[in-house]
Amino acid sequence: MTFHPDTLCPFCGLGCGDIAIDRDESGIVPRPTGCPQADRLFRRSAVVPTDARMSGAAVSCDVAIAEAVRLLGASRAPLIAGLAADVDGVLAALSLAERIGATVDHERSDALFRNLTVLRRFGWSVTTLAELRNRCDLVLVAGPDPAAAFPRLWERWVAPEPAFVPGGARSVVFLGGQPLPETVQCLGSRIEESGLDGSAGQDLASIVGRLRTALAGRTAEDDPMTALAARLRAARYAVVIWAAGLFDGPQPDLIVEGLVRLVRSVDGTTRCAGLPLSGADNLIGANQACGWRTGFPLRTGFDGGAPLHDPERFAWQARLRDADVTLWVSAFRPEIPPFTTDGAVIMLAPPEMAVTPEPALFIPVGTPGIDHGGDVFRADSVVALHADGLIDRGLPSVADVIGRMLMALDQPTTVKEAAGC
Ligand code: SF4
Repeated sequence: MTFHPDTLCPFCGLGCGDIAIDRDESGIVPRPTGCPQADRLFRRSAVVPTDARMSGAAVSCDVAIAEAVRLLGASRAPLIAGLAADVDGVLAALSLAERIGATVDHERSDALFRNLTVLRRFGWSVTTLAELRNRCDLVLVAGPDPAAAFPRLWERWVAPEPAFVPGGARSVVFLGGQPLPETVQCLGSRIEESGLDGSAGQDLASIVGRLRTALAGRTAEDDPMTALAARLRAARYAVVIWAAGLFDGPQPDLIVEGLVRLVRSVDGTTRCAGLPLSGADNLIGANQACGWRTGFPLRTGFDGGAPLHDPERFAWQARLRDADVTLWVSAFRPEIPPFTTDGAVIMLAPPEMAVTPEPALFIPVGTPGIDHGGDVFRADSVVALHADGLIDRGLPSVADVIGRMLMALDQPTTVKEAAGC
């Protein structure tokens, strides 16, 4: 039995670096972390099937890559989606997209674009997780508890005493997310009574609107929003946190817009910043890599010979309708969202993945931070983290597999040599 202390977790984007992993001949197991994602996703068997599958039948990786190259090379409307890979895997996928004229998007980009839409319209003032932990004395949480998607947010970034707040005092106010879930228990007395319990069931856009009205000085003195507005203005450094992927309703970007405007109205008289959280499965890294390579965010297509960005037309859900071949990449977790397509699906995913219906091709790949090292971005966009590999199960990385596809595309007569796994 060997022990790996302080392992970096690559899954949700919070970048927890304190995961303890036990390893023996049967595989790896995390010591309980309090995080359901880490406890489940770090648990991997040492022996897994490493064969690829073609229409459900086991084939060698050489044969699978040769078939993938044939399908992608002949495709008229290819899509590369999922895109859940480390930075090297995403860069390889972008090279392939450029080579075959594909569209690229990440499985979880809806949450990102709810924020980016507003960033484009208004700009924004946002902060980092480190500023939250060290300098913030008032946290305003807008909407559903972000810990549903970022399980250790409170424990790691808000419960600790802030290093640069005199007296270490910090309060947390929940806006529109009542009743409070169990995940906030670690905050204890930091949770501040806001008098907004009557807001339960109201839509978040209206609640944010009422707070903005209070900040403008147009609510009654005995309205709890008036007190909350005064509390925000009296804070030394308030941070407004939201996870746009958890917002319900038809126009979640309008809630984000309200929050961005709210931050702007407080910032200046005192310090106030937003913290929009999205980023599981290296969503932020995929978006950054797309920006470096093309000058555009995700939802960019190469079918015109040059990169073209369109946040509606090139969303993977929209593009799936026309795609005759989809390369779906899901390296972090053995699960995918339900989707249907009339085209062929080539799937790069961990061997534990159970997928129905069986795709045209399934090529097992390793998980960054488990089977091989890899770089992932934290959810606040500013920090790239390196996760080391823990176990060698003979699984290639996404970058390896796509790199072999690219070599085979450029040298079609030597597919077999180039594609050796
Ligand atoms: S909170 Fe996120 S980064 Fe931390 S252990 Fe859980 S999944 Fe990993």
